[in-house]
Amino acid sequence: MHAVPLNVRIPEPGILAIRWSDGSERWYGLDELRADCPCAPCQPSTEKPRMGRTAFHSIALRGLEEVGNYALKLEFTDGHSTGIYTFERLRAAGHPPGAVPPPDLLPRFEV
Ligand SMILES: [Zn+2]
Repeated sequence: MHAVPLNVRIPEPGILAIRWSDGSERWYGLDELRADCPCAPCQPSTEKPRMGRTAFHSIALRGLEEVGNYALKLEFTDGHSTGIYTFERLRAAGHPPGAVPPPDLLPRFEV
């Protein structure tokens, strides 16, 4: 049985905080989540490397819904809403509360 979110909130602009059923709390940069979008069109390829966090530095959430009790669907202010973030993936990611690292100052392209 994987952990499930008990509470989801925006503790400060650009940050998503999830309190999990295993007692932990993880914070996520919305720019990180957007850059890591799991949907098929966002997957990097040799022609199209994945864009880093800096490309999404001012991103915010427009909406959020639970999908089938196993994932969250995030709708971002750039209109992108096809990413399904599984609880398992989210629980394994993120940072301790208050410890989301600032984005790099220069654009970074990850292959
Ligand atoms: Zn995507």
